[in-house]
Amino acid sequence: NPTLSNYHAIKNACWKEGQPVPYAALCQTLKCCEETSGRLNKTEYLANFYRSVIALNTAEDVVTALHLSLNLLAATYEGVELGIGDMVLIKAISQATGRPNQKIKADMQSLGDLGEVAENSKGSQKLMFKPPPLKMQKVYGQLQKIAKVSGQSSMNTKVDLIKGLLVACVGSEARFLIRSCAGKLRIGVSEATVLSALARAIVFHELGETKNSKFSKERYDRVDAIVKEAYCELPNYKIIVDALLEHGSDNLADHVSLQPGVPLKPMLAHPTKAITEILTRFGAGAEFTAEYKYDGERAQIHLLEDGSFRVYSRNQEDNTSKYPDVMTRMPNCLQDVTSAVIDSESVAWDPETKQILPFQVLTTRKRKDVDAKDIKVQVCIHAFDLLYLNGESLVKKSLRERRELLHKHFKSIEGEFVFATAKDMCEIDELQVFLDQAVKDSTEGLMVKALEDSYEISKRSHSWLKLKKDYLGSGVADSVDVLVMGAYYGKGKRSGNYGGFLLGVYDADNEEYQTVCKLGTGLTDENLKLFTERLEKIKSEKKSYYRLGGVTADVYFEPEMVWEIKCADLSISPVHTAATGLADPSKGISLRFPRFIRERDDKSPEMATSADQIFEMYNSQDVIQNSAARGGPK
Ligand code: ATP
Repeated sequence: NPTLSNYHAIKNACWKEGQPVPYAALCQTLKCCEETSGRLNKTEYLANFYRSVIALNTAEDVVTALHLSLNLLAATYEGVELGIGDMVLIKAISQATGRPNQKIKADMQSLGDLGEVAENSKGSQKLMFKPPPLKMQKVYGQLQKIAKVSGQSSMNTKVDLIKGLLVACVGSEARFLIRSCAGKLRIGVSEATVLSALARAIVFHELGETKNSKFSKERYDRVDAIVKEAYCELPNYKIIVDALLEHGSDNLADHVSLQPGVPLKPMLAHPTKAITEILTRFGAGAEFTAEYKYDGERAQIHLLEDGSFRVYSRNQEDNTSKYPDVMTRMPNCLQDVTSAVIDSESVAWDPETKQILPFQVLTTRKRKDVDAKDIKVQVCIHAFDLLYLNGESLVKKSLRERRELLHKHFKSIEGEFVFATAKDMCEIDELQVFLDQAVKDSTEGLMVKALEDSYEISKRSHSWLKLKKDYLGSGVADSVDVLVMGAYYGKGKRSGNYGGFLLGVYDADNEEYQTVCKLGTGLTDENLKLFTERLEKIKSEKKSYYRLGGVTADVYFEPEMVWEIKCADLSISPVHTAATGLADPSKGISLRFPRFIRERDDKSPEMATSADQIFEMYNSQDVIQNSAARGGPK
């Protein structure tokens, strides 16, 4: 029951203080989350479970519960992942249940989810001896073991380990065990939901366990913000849980702050499509800085106290092994630095012509375990911010101060490590000239930044405005990152693959995915084949949280794949449901003439464009602005 008080949540827990957490308790919670569509309900189910673990077990158990709710085996940036192929899972299910491979494959074809197949297969199995119930911590340990298995006989070892757990599974345990192994829980729980649930659990925990402890919404909102802020600065559940339990939520910020070696969520910019918008934002006469906007890959470079360097992506993935060349150069750029976090863009570079190369060139560089000898695409780091220096976080300092420290403590080396080209100014005329220069110098345009503002971790801030040359004066200021919700079978030349797609955005207020357009343009035959293969793996039944309005698709997917789309403009739509109720009381907004640009595998679904952003983009179109100015409908 999601509305249980803390007292009852703990009294009703199916295990006692000090006993290991049963895996069944976690799976029951995940099952409840899967069966409910609302984010608030999911949050409560998770919070109830976490409350019991906090009260009855150790901090380590709490971290395991959080990790397993998100199918993590370590902090996200540590990159320990499970994504075991169907073959191995089918073999393990077959061996654990005595059902032939062929039958399991056939069930898989009709159900589309091996987790359910495993649960059903276990359900029909008669056991002579009942194995002891599984414990959450043991399953977590075994999953970590499975993730680390490598080498020649790794397939058999994995099958054995999975089988070992599967024989002891009861009910939905088999479903979630198999889904964990496959790398997808399919319960629609995001990082933000888990953080809210943790905050809720902590509020109850701090209230104590009396029957009449009163839960306050204001307090919950405050702790929710504190926990989320801490996570953005230091995305590590272990450090956060330890600090929460030891020092309390009100003191969390004093104990959890930016640390070299832990990637923070980067500050993001707002799109603008006209230079005049900059004036409106910064006010006439105020000084701001305009930096070149390089078209590469965000690189957060950390120098740890032990002298080692690490590079993290925009998505907090560890990219260190992609950049052995950058690692060897970085020591030459330091001037009195013992530890640091630099925000920068890694850009493909032609050492002969000494010129920046397009983003597409960078994508041809190997992603992992690069051997310095094999590097064909050179990169030059363009540093634009400094977030940490010699033991001190700088995020609260102004950009002016941060930049000064960056220039003082780091040395620019042509073609290797340079500072973003920047110009401080107060006049719009100067901006136009500088923009022309930026375009001539092969960049995407400008990033215009308020000089006196702090670094807003993880925020899409109005202190940073992006001015992209491709979007200046056009209908929309930026491309849109959408989720692939469904697809249509291809016809003619495209038959055998999907030929068109149904795309959507997430609306956090209504806790649903809303459709924003159909797409068939911009995809090559090669792309179609590749995406068809990859989407096949995330095929699912139509989700209860998909708001389809007047469109349907032939097949639906888990909302996981993010595509960047360019469109001519945005308009009110009689069939699509994105941002329904915002621009029009009953209609949504759709993208007109959408065109595929590229997959954004550096973005998680949560980082894709939101329904609110779609509404903002719709509203900022000249035709809408002008109509509003004339007193017409927006
Ligand atoms: P976003 O990061 O805003 O979600 P996106 O990933 O689609 O959008 P863009 O809209 O192209 O990327 O622009 C933002 C990105 O530009 C930053 O994340 C960063 O990687 C890059 N960038 C290049 N030059 C700069 C700069 N001078 N200052 C800040 N970011 C820059």
